[in-house]
Amino acid sequence: MARPNILIIHIDALRSDYARYVSSALGSDWLVYKEVYTPLYGTDPVVTTVFTGMYPVRHGILRHGPWVTGTETMLLRLRTRDNWLPEVLASNGYETMAYDILGRWHRRGFKRYIELPALRHGLIKLSYVAKHAALRASRKIAHAFFRNPPTPYPPVITILGQVLRGLKGAKKPFLAFVHIWDTHTPYLVTHCSPKRRPGTPLSVLLEKVIDEQWRRYLRDLVAWGAHTIEDIIERYQAAACSVGEALRLFIDKLRDTGLYDDTLIIIYSDHGESLGEHGAFFDHHTVHEEVIRSFLAIKPAGREEPIMLNRVSLVDVAPTIFGILRVSGAIDEELYRRLSRRWDGLDLSLPNAPDMDGNRVLYFGMVADKPGLDTLFGIIAGSWKYIESFMHNRPEKCPRCGAKHHDQRELFKIDRDPGEKQNLVEEEREIAQRLRELLLRHLRSARHPELDKIITQVL
Ligand SMILES: [Zn+2]
Ligand SMILES: [Zn+2]
Repeated sequence: MARPNILIIHIDALRSDYARYVSSALGSDWLVYKEVYTPLYGTDPVVTTVFTGMYPVRHGILRHGPWVTGTETMLLRLRTRDNWLPEVLASNGYETMAYDILGRWHRRGFKRYIELPALRHGLIKLSYVAKHAALRASRKIAHAFFRNPPTPYPPVITILGQVLRGLKGAKKPFLAFVHIWDTHTPYLVTHCSPKRRPGTPLSVLLEKVIDEQWRRYLRDLVAWGAHTIEDIIERYQAAACSVGEALRLFIDKLRDTGLYDDTLIIIYSDHGESLGEHGAFFDHHTVHEEVIRSFLAIKPAGREEPIMLNRVSLVDVAPTIFGILRVSGAIDEELYRRLSRRWDGLDLSLPNAPDMDGNRVLYFGMVADKPGLDTLFGIIAGSWKYIESFMHNRPEKCPRCGAKHHDQRELFKIDRDPGEKQNLVEEEREIAQRLRELLLRHLRSARHPELDKIITQVL
């Protein structure tokens, strides 16, 4: 059997309830998972999970961007020496390429790593700089001279056009990783033009925001051309819609080039986004459902179909890719067995994998990276979701947006209360205690020195 190509498409900050714009672009040969959870709220830890099948507490990366510490990257080097998906595939004859801006360790194993800003034309880059300079000088000038605001990311259509050209010329089999940003703030890189909606004036939101830098970002960029909170939500929706439309076109083109049938395609979102729920606007720094529910869809290459599970997590992505590769003979049994010893996730291509009864236990969390944010870990088991803050001297309100997102300890029955409005931690003490013990066991078993410090500070 021929070795399948692999294409992984990462959509940043696409909420599960807006993912219909993407899933409606996919045919009946796709498996769209119903209930998908992300293991952590940050992009860096999640991509690292996707390439290893390990929970962030085990691969080491807990924070995102400039807040990742030396201990985290050291643990990552030690613990992912021989199971990093792009490296394993590269050493098994795959041509590897990525289209992304994350850089750093995410480059590992990619023969070609195309940084997204390089996709831009020189002129556009200049105008981006000019727009930012104008923004700093005066918002009025910027609005008068530039109809489109500056955005740090090229639109999905530009990225996918470049990817298509790259795939056509690539040696086979290939692994391609693509990162799409339209649904990440400032939600501006969309071709759809959203309507203006009556609603809550932006000033109401901006007045509440405590963090000066965050207020400036919201006011100058996220609020570009918008007058109400609803205008911005409309633009988020337009962004999700334009990602779906671009993917529909892209998949058609893949069919035209003959690449579609022989390619295993995985589309996922790394986390959701708060659009006002629990007092958080236009960011992802809580562990409520709107943030930790994400999206996963798989289009198998050939007949070996992953089976449906009620509840999956992004820790399952790497095990499932390797499972499909084993069936098609692209990797041997011994390599699969060696890799599988490290996974926290399940190979969804195995019909008899354990815990497939919908009561699967999953873990999630967020670790304060930007100053002032909370450190929260949690567990989902059956219809129960337990969350605990592990922050020492925790402020009553979020120092970023001035709202209260989480209590110290929370227990929700998410089938009856998906909006997580009723904290049952006092009423259901026994359940909360049992889940807490499982959670602590999971966190301690990771043997992560920084995590251990975080836990012992509050226990
Ligand atoms: Zn992200
Ligand atoms: Zn907040």
